[in-house]
Amino acid sequence: MYLSGLVLAGRRVLVAGGGRVAARRVPALLEAGAVVHLVAPELAPELAALAATDRLAWSQRAVRESDCDGVWLVLALTDEPEANAMLAAAAESQRIFCVRADAAEGGTAWTPATGRVGDLHLGVVSGSGPRTAARARDVAVWSLTGDPDVDAPAGWVTLVGGGPGDPALLTDGGRRAVRAADVVLYDRLAPLAVLAEAPPGAELVDVGKVPRGRHTPQEAINDLLVQHAQAGRRVVRLKGGDSFVFGRGGEEAQACTAAGVPVRVVPGVSSAVAAPALAGIPVTHRTLSQGFTVVSGHVPPGDPRSDVDWVAHARSRTTLVILMGVANLDTICRTLQEAGLAPDTPVAVVTDAGSPQMRVLRARLADIAAVSAAAGVEPPAVTVIGEVAALNLL
Ligand code: SAH
Repeated sequence: MYLSGLVLAGRRVLVAGGGRVAARRVPALLEAGAVVHLVAPELAPELAALAATDRLAWSQRAVRESDCDGVWLVLALTDEPEANAMLAAAAESQRIFCVRADAAEGGTAWTPATGRVGDLHLGVVSGSGPRTAARARDVAVWSLTGDPDVDAPAGWVTLVGGGPGDPALLTDGGRRAVRAADVVLYDRLAPLAVLAEAPPGAELVDVGKVPRGRHTPQEAINDLLVQHAQAGRRVVRLKGGDSFVFGRGGEEAQACTAAGVPVRVVPGVSSAVAAPALAGIPVTHRTLSQGFTVVSGHVPPGDPRSDVDWVAHARSRTTLVILMGVANLDTICRTLQEAGLAPDTPVAVVTDAGSPQMRVLRARLADIAAVSAAAGVEPPAVTVIGEVAALNLL
């Protein structure tokens, strides 16, 4: 293959066939200034619209050998292999380059997957087929622009924050990424209903980490992301909330970058704000709280691995939002009280926010651990501590 760009302005080009392929090719030919003669018994609606203008000449009939006379380029795009073969032979005998839609090897020119970035015009051809070429084009365009005109680019990892669980709380960009994915790696807090919107052939991989149960180490997930992306797939990592809020999205991004795999992020609605909101609790409220802090309760206070300053939070008059705090709720509440937070500070525990099972428990700081234990609260739950937790605005 010898790559070159054709200057077609004012030059005649024959396009045989009026279907989907022709509808994709003709606009680019016209944009290049070619004088296009379209021959087809019927036209796709986009082509019919063009043919109704004086930009496109249309002969409503089957294509003939003589249509090749005097043209610079032939595009044999009919859905009849014999007609395309006839055109290829006619073009060959007249030394006209010919693109064949049904069998690229049977033609003398190939149409590349193209992309535009400013005044750069990218074209990719591949012996492994148009899908491979299109993927390489996607990656090239992305690396030049970072511009999200591709929902889940091939060879990239797209980290999608899925929101708290309700598919309505997945962003438009996140949903489009899932719809374009070749492979979706998800865990149990992701909005699982959205998986049904992945393309029919897409591979869906549950990498969920059930607490104290089956365990997929993070490194294994990182490896999977990298391997799928390096195989040229459109990889979507779908998880609950926002990927960079206790979602280990940061580690996944680092692993991709270290392996030379390009990575992008679609931010999500974090349960840290969504769970309180759905319970009618604003995390800030004029006169009550001028800020909020989000911490993990995964590691109990006093544990050497903990880097949360609970004493400072006890003194802060702003809202405290705790994720992953169910198991340690009792210890956390006692620590806060010992550090001076009033025992009657309002607390709300919101479980399964955004799902039909959502529950909201409210109690004083002194009582909430017992109340939620009695109610059998289980993760996932968000705990809100502070004056705003007494509000129920909905
Ligand atoms: N990246 C996620 C958080 C992951 S850590 C986010 O931004 O929301 C997991 C913790 O998130 C859970 O233990 C729980 O505290 C919280 N969580 C996630 N989804 C939740 C939901 N639907 N309802 C309540 N809490 C949720």
